[in-house]
Amino acid sequence: MQDRALVWLQERAPQLAVPRLVAAKSAETMVRAADEAGAPLRVRLLTWLPGTLLADARPHAPELLRDLGRFLGRLDAALLGFTHAASVERDLDWNPSRSLAVIARHRDAIRDPGRRAIVDGFVRRYEESAAPLLPKLRRSVIHNDANDHNVLVGDPDAEARRVSGLLDFGDMLETQTVSELAVAIAYAMLGKRDPLAAASRVVAGYHEAFPLTEPELDVLFHVACVRLCCSVSLSAHRRTTEPDNAYLTVSEAPAWEALERLSAVPPHLAAYTLRAACSLPPCPESPAVASWLRAHRDEIGRVVEPDLDGALVLDLSAGSPLFEALSALEETARTTERLFGLMKETRAQAGIGRYDEARLVYTTGAFDTPEGERRTVHLAIDVFLPPGAPLFAPLDGIVHAAKDNAARLDYGPTVILRHEPRGCPPFFTLYGHLSRESLERLRAGDGVSKGDEIGRIGAPPENGDWPPHVHFQIVLDMLGRDGEFPGVAAFSQREVWLSLSPDANLILKMPEERVRAAARPKPAILEARRRSLGPSLSVSYRRPLEIVRGFAQHLYDETGRAYLDGVNNVAHVGHGHPRVVAAGRRQMAVLNTNTRYLHETIVAYAERLTALLPEPLHVVTFVCSGSEANELALRMARARTCGTGIVVVDGAYHGNTQGLVDVSPYKFDGPGGRGAPPHVRKVPMPDDYRGLHRREVPDRGERFAAYVGEAFRDLAEHGHAPAAFLCESLLSCGGQIELPPGYLAAAHRHARAAGAVTIADEVQVGFGRVGSSFWGFETQEGALPDIVTMGKPMGNGHPLAAVVTTPEIAGAFANGMEYFNTFGGNPVSCAIGLAVLDVIEEERLQERAERVGGRLKAGLSGLQDRHAILGDVRGRGLFLGIELVRSRETLEPAAEEAAYVVERMKDLGILLSTDGPLHDVIKMKPPLAFSEADADRLVSALDDVLGEDFVMHRLVS
Ligand code: PMP
Repeated sequence: MQDRALVWLQERAPQLAVPRLVAAKSAETMVRAADEAGAPLRVRLLTWLPGTLLADARPHAPELLRDLGRFLGRLDAALLGFTHAASVERDLDWNPSRSLAVIARHRDAIRDPGRRAIVDGFVRRYEESAAPLLPKLRRSVIHNDANDHNVLVGDPDAEARRVSGLLDFGDMLETQTVSELAVAIAYAMLGKRDPLAAASRVVAGYHEAFPLTEPELDVLFHVACVRLCCSVSLSAHRRTTEPDNAYLTVSEAPAWEALERLSAVPPHLAAYTLRAACSLPPCPESPAVASWLRAHRDEIGRVVEPDLDGALVLDLSAGSPLFEALSALEETARTTERLFGLMKETRAQAGIGRYDEARLVYTTGAFDTPEGERRTVHLAIDVFLPPGAPLFAPLDGIVHAAKDNAARLDYGPTVILRHEPRGCPPFFTLYGHLSRESLERLRAGDGVSKGDEIGRIGAPPENGDWPPHVHFQIVLDMLGRDGEFPGVAAFSQREVWLSLSPDANLILKMPEERVRAAARPKPAILEARRRSLGPSLSVSYRRPLEIVRGFAQHLYDETGRAYLDGVNNVAHVGHGHPRVVAAGRRQMAVLNTNTRYLHETIVAYAERLTALLPEPLHVVTFVCSGSEANELALRMARARTCGTGIVVVDGAYHGNTQGLVDVSPYKFDGPGGRGAPPHVRKVPMPDDYRGLHRREVPDRGERFAAYVGEAFRDLAEHGHAPAAFLCESLLSCGGQIELPPGYLAAAHRHARAAGAVTIADEVQVGFGRVGSSFWGFETQEGALPDIVTMGKPMGNGHPLAAVVTTPEIAGAFANGMEYFNTFGGNPVSCAIGLAVLDVIEEERLQERAERVGGRLKAGLSGLQDRHAILGDVRGRGLFLGIELVRSRETLEPAAEEAAYVVERMKDLGILLSTDGPLHDVIKMKPPLAFSEADADRLVSALDDVLGEDFVMHRLVS
């Protein structure tokens, strides 16, 4: 039968990667032979299929799972019409029609009673919901064993990996066609945090190649779960009969884990999810209910007293300006004041919170899904009204439930009505956050008529501790829940839940355009950006992020997803730090002018800032960007030396003006660059990992520094008198490199000997980031620059930068030509700068950088034993880098792998980026609010991603 099937497939689907039969010289495909002992054997030869077992492939990306489905869909389409006597009623434990018998026979071998109960539960549901449908389903001969040890995967370096083959046709039989897919999803769900999402992808691919019928979709989840139950029952049994055969139980642990997760999923929800994967309405009744409500619009009564046409629509989305700092979400009284204040100002009789809006207001653990996602998408419409405002039944119905869901940020007192209007599938309406006395008047089972009062708006805290409002939601299927129903869904499951809870405006009947989400969709933003912004500006990530909010060490996208920010050092003391925001707001409201007027804040900040630097560095000039700072520093150096020659470190970036592009090898040697201009020399990067002098050389700092002296001599010989040695105190664009010991002092010595001024670019690394000291140059013994430039973290995102130098250089620069900067050092900037310094001090952020950075670095170093690609772990405090190499011998850079890792970490919710001249360095320079737990999370996620095939497959072992 197997041979016939393989030939059949070769003829009908030659492109399908299944083994081919190789005939013997006799033209037979099966020959008789004997083993060493003379026992008869039957032998056949099959072609080899390349690839990795799906069980070993990492990760199971959505596109790969989809391709698995597509492959099986094509296979089943091709097998249609194939028949064989041996395929019928096969006496095989894996025959789907025997599953229940197999489970019944072996379930007692499962020792844990909790687990036995899980199996019994799935069997019961199967008998109730799937078994009656089976006789109606399509039948055909199927492979029947597309488990993850029979599926092969190719192309480890492709963006979308494909199934490269399917093995082992030994379990083929004739049964319900859908069993093929059920087997595949049973195994595809193993080891997944979100098994149903994995199943959906396989189902989507299958449906694309070979459309499923609706009854097939109805049974699919049950059949897949029973397959897993069959597997664990057999494993339990085999454990007693063949305890040493590991293959027989390979799937046991992950199968239990999956069954435990799946037992918590309401079966209808699973079916809806799989329907959504096939682009069917997830909840089958949803379109009928929506169209009934539209058609009977005039028969629907009001829910609240005021006419909602004049209500104020409130923006409660993730990026809403109504919530300034995320911490404010916790304060119900303040939010209430805010929302009701706005309503009062606009004389609105009610406020409206939108349907299908992604929000961050759901902050308790109850809003976390088992899959590790926070639920954000609102499934109802909120109507904000004063406590005590009455609510009415919009249609006849019966009370389904009246219950107090008393946990904080839950519904509080809740009423659910059941409606069954003629000609419409039954549905429910849910009213949350009522007053407690509302519950006293209603009993489950009571009839209510359209227009009856069914409760009143509650006040915090008895209403779940929310600003007073009713959460009004339509629900089509209670999914077995009683007295409550999720009012918010995970964004990844949005479509399914919006189908389960169609737009409540179908009943509230406000003008559509008023309550529709106002935000421009992400693709439209990208397109507008393409049209209106210069094309020389890139966007981070292959699938760009739309970031709508930042708080502390997190950034939030428009779906409400939180990303751990591992890379934005500008938000030094944390995104949206309330103290910094308040300082800016306060000063902005009072005065914002320039530095030509006397102002206490400006001098106070100048004093605070210069006190942080060693003498004689105490003269400051405020500017607005790191580029302006470096530009000014170079002008000062030229004024002081009357020279023009500048020496910089290879790979460095110092700013975006022409003058700075000229001294930035990262730019002038990069794409579009024209090399170093005549007055500029670059010296080799003092990289002691892959540079000219390695870590084993004790005086490498001195040796690297010697190039600085040579470069100035060369400049002088070419008629460029020395002006400045410009160097970052730790190299950032160069690849997160800590200067070797003694480098900076020696380089300064050479520069000064040549008559040049020394400039420390602290734009990236200043303000305590390196932990052990406040400034980066202080990590280098005996190094004291003549000029220090600073920027990025200085205003925590507000454009504030500065040059600090000695009175002597400042004096030389003051040659009569005034330096004036319109915005630099204005009172608002200085107020913000002061607040940043206050926070660094009060929250002991420098110490924190040392402690958390130390833990992060130790964690990363710990990964080096397990991941050969981790060539180097380096940096200080919270300024760290890892360099990825394909071989620790040749140091072949792993740039594509680094880019891959950054993308994958983003998928896992952690933002990092690559850098270094070879693009093989992943940099970490998070806001200093980063915690030890964040460091551990980063290390653990990196551990997973570094084990993925794309990272591993080019390693030279
Ligand atoms: N110096 C260094 C070391 C930098 O990294 C940068 C910015 N990446 C600059 C200067 C320029 O700063 P800005 O972008 O604020 O002009």
